Amino acid sequence: MSISSSLRFPRPLFVVAAAALALAGCGKKEEPAAPAAAPAAAPAPAGDRFVTIGTGGVTGVYYAAGGAICRLMNKDRATHGIRCSVESTGGSVFNINTIRAGELDFGVAQSDWQFHAYNGSKVFEKDGKFEDLRAVFSVHPEPFTVLSRKEAGIGSVEALKGKRVNIGNPGSGTRASMEELVGALGWTVADFGLAAELKADEHGAALCDNKIDAFFYGVGHPSANIQDPITTCGAKLVPLQGPAIDKLVEGAPYYAKVNIPGGLYAGHADPTPTYGVLATFVSSAKVADDVVYTLVKSVFENFDEFKKLHPAFGALEPADMIKNGLSAPLHPGAVKYYKEKGWM
Ligand code: GLU
Repeated sequence: MSISSSLRFPRPLFVVAAAALALAGCGKKEEPAAPAAAPAAAPAPAGDRFVTIGTGGVTGVYYAAGGAICRLMNKDRATHGIRCSVESTGGSVFNINTIRAGELDFGVAQSDWQFHAYNGSKVFEKDGKFEDLRAVFSVHPEPFTVLSRKEAGIGSVEALKGKRVNIGNPGSGTRASMEELVGALGWTVADFGLAAELKADEHGAALCDNKIDAFFYGVGHPSANIQDPITTCGAKLVPLQGPAIDKLVEGAPYYAKVNIPGGLYAGHADPTPTYGVLATFVSSAKVADDVVYTLVKSVFENFDEFKKLHPAFGALEPADMIKNGLSAPLHPGAVKYYKEKGWM
């Protein structure tokens, strides 16, 4: 059971407060600070429970999504007694594996990796089906995004061959999806001049410093992570299309052809065609129903505020979020709220 009491804090992962800067990978364990108004001897009425949400790099949209959810949940902490914190992590595959290990309560994960975790396929084949994986809702679309140095002259996916490309850190959904793409193209990572494994927080600077020619990233738009290298060094989005991608999308329920909308980034007035997945919010059947109920209620009772917390959430609709991109069963705590609202 990963929801720990305030007195017993066995979680092996470090925890950061939603507002604090993430210290990804440093292994430091921190207890969240007590709320300023609460005297040390008087625990919150419902009993000081903690939940942690695994996200991605601090410059990505998952970290913002986790932060937004925790902010809304913590607003009513005095009523429900659950304290939410967000953790910067390596991304989707790490989040799912860590939920499975009972060391995270919630995580954000690409819909393709939710599908494969539940079915025990692809990168999850070795560990078998994660039958306790539970869907909570889906969030923003994540078009697969290739950003290139303007001097590299990369106008298509085929032109990545022989180039220095960041394929993403192990544990990211980005990396796992990139390996699918490389396979569909009939390539291996050895076909790149360099296959870098940088974290998403590092790839923008590496691009502008001429350490790599392009990076691949599954991310919501608009995103500061994409905007920064465009502003700093005139980086260019590369369309992802052609027969290999047609075949990839055709055979997979979790992929769809999408555009990165035009007008979001300087120098990109027209849409960029690509394919992508949805970001989804997942948990485990082992997480208590009332905790999941409280989380979804916090999001949907404050939905206008939630949508304003990141521009990538602006177009979200509850009716889509409770069904699109979800392949694991919905958590019963979420179902309870969706039924109360008459959405199911
Ligand atoms: N989709 C990315 C991954 O799982 C993370 C994107 C983000 O952090 O916004 O690797």
